[in-house]
Amino acid sequence: MARTLLITGASRGIGAATALQAAAAGWQVAVNYRQDAAGAAHVVASIQAAGGVAQAFQADVAEEADIIRLFDAVVQRFGAVHGLVNNAGSTAPMGRLQDFSAARIQHMLQLNVAGPMLCCREAVRHMSTTAGGLGGVIVNVSSAASRLGSAGEYVDYAACKGAIDTLTLGLAREVAAEGIRVNAVRPGLIETGIHAISGQPGRVARLAPGVPMQRGGLPDEVAAAIVWLLSDAASFCTGSILDVSGGR
Ligand code: NAP
Repeated sequence: MARTLLITGASRGIGAATALQAAAAGWQVAVNYRQDAAGAAHVVASIQAAGGVAQAFQADVAEEADIIRLFDAVVQRFGAVHGLVNNAGSTAPMGRLQDFSAARIQHMLQLNVAGPMLCCREAVRHMSTTAGGLGGVIVNVSSAASRLGSAGEYVDYAACKGAIDTLTLGLAREVAAEGIRVNAVRPGLIETGIHAISGQPGRVARLAPGVPMQRGGLPDEVAAAIVWLLSDAASFCTGSILDVSGGR
């Protein structure tokens, strides 16, 4: 039986690369997006052209009602959810904490912490063998920012990713006996559109000389780590945080 994977924020970047690789590995993919319907449709069409199964689902994963609606829609379409990649997330314009508004900080926490946490909640409710589920696997997308702190850039975002690391460790232990594995990847500087959102489209090239491997990473290099953690090859991995950062 084909297994179903829900990837949040899969219309571009790391989420889109993960959708394509997961589909090639045999997953049926639920491609979530917030506003980039064309991007999500392109990912779905690429998967279908390669013989895979995918469907796009609009939902803002910073909103609890949308998250509940998203899980209901995916279960209605595919019958079950066996995997979740908590990928949707974003930075905000670079600056110093002393200048950040309460509204900005609240939004960072809502999108990068509360959203993934609520997605985990819905997934566990659905997957837990104690509730009659089939078990499953969750991969959270953290960031090397959780180790580095992002001083002068976005310490609020970095702190959110620190919360994702802790969520991964705690939830992994909480549900380990219920058939659910929970792991995280911690990407470093990756070539995606996220850097333009923070006002630094050239950020990867600028910081690459400080990466031990002397370059930024590609979305596909992060996706490969995610798809491995999703797979049965990682069957004894839970509570693991895998750095994909070129040594940075
Ligand atoms: P990206 O290219 O900006 O893509 C972000 C994706 O998330 C888009 O598909 C976007 O879709 C979606 N999204 C944003 N807000 C959403 C919301 N509220 N609800 C649903 N979807 C939403 O970013 P990326 O670089 O691939 O980042 C993916 C993840 O990797 C993030 O968690 C990020 O923090 C993490 N990460 C990235 C890097 C890096 O250097 N790129 C490094 C470390 C960690 P819409 O346009 O439709 O909103």
